[in-house]
Amino acid sequence: MIPVVWSDDVLRHDPRDEIWVGVRTDGTEVPRRATVIRAALAAAGHPEVPTTEHPDDVLLEVHEAGLVDWLRTAWDAWQDGPYGTLVGSDRVVPYVFPTPLMTSGMPWRYPAATHARAGVWCYDTMTVVGPGTWEAARAAVDAGLTAVDLVLAGRHSVYALTRPPGHHAAPAGFGGSCYLNTAAVAAQAFARAGRRVAVLDVDAHHGNGTQAVFWDRADVLYASVHVDPGAGWFPHVLGYGDERGAGAGAGSTVNVPLPPGTDDDGWLRGVRLLVEAALRFDAEAVVLSLGLDAAAADPESPLLVSRDGYARAGALVGALDLPTVVVQEGGYDLASVGDLTVAALSAF
Ligand SMILES: [Zn+2]
Repeated sequence: MIPVVWSDDVLRHDPRDEIWVGVRTDGTEVPRRATVIRAALAAAGHPEVPTTEHPDDVLLEVHEAGLVDWLRTAWDAWQDGPYGTLVGSDRVVPYVFPTPLMTSGMPWRYPAATHARAGVWCYDTMTVVGPGTWEAARAAVDAGLTAVDLVLAGRHSVYALTRPPGHHAAPAGFGGSCYLNTAAVAAQAFARAGRRVAVLDVDAHHGNGTQAVFWDRADVLYASVHVDPGAGWFPHVLGYGDERGAGAGAGSTVNVPLPPGTDDDGWLRGVRLLVEAALRFDAEAVVLSLGLDAAAADPESPLLVSRDGYARAGALVGALDLPTVVVQEGGYDLASVGDLTVAALSAF
């Protein structure tokens, strides 16, 4: 039985609402996601191991220090500002984004105002920071690193039950309900240990953050199957089939975009392409970004994968028979996400 790395701190992040197209909508990346998965895995007999704390060194090889510092301090800074008493704001939400469209290649200054700083690091309005966001995201990174430790010490495979998810978090920017990229940190820890590592991402959405981290790296493969961004789905501007990496990393990125409505057969053909890419890459370790949001019942994607589809995907990745760290990404249907996780891990 694959052990489950757990930390109570992953429950501390509660986005409560997201600001989506200018409207406050119910957040779907809720703490209960983790508790229902945890309960399902416990009922299936998976043993649990506690998360151990790790220093920032591997994290800082994935993310810029400025982003990490911002996430660590943003909530306290927000509370020090007038935002609560002035406008009743109880979450950090950016309102101005100093993208190159604004700065136009000119030298620019780090903003003085806390509410302006937020948009330096965040690339959307739906990934809010509140009390406990940093603690949960940092605990997720620790859980991923704990899983790598266990695998490097001889465990075949370990599952890190993390939230918030991470694969949309880029080196210097967070968004897509992600803050710190746990899967990328886990892959970097394997790379540091001298292992050629394949990150296989089966979340319904393209992991633009993980792709960005390893875009020009030859020692880490990033391979993803996801709903076609060209059909109007997040992350919209990345995740197309012709993105294959650059420089030393040319050929080390593989994208398999699928049309909305794709069911088991089409999705599993995509998963098989990821596995074949890992074989061609001569991978010595795998990080599986396990998103359950490709499931038919999931509210966040138009893919139509069944429980059996997730089991067959688990078996396909398991057949690589490589040391593997499984990192929890998306999956938002609270009624089925626990069972889907059990199905994938059991077949693995
Ligand atoms: Zn997703």
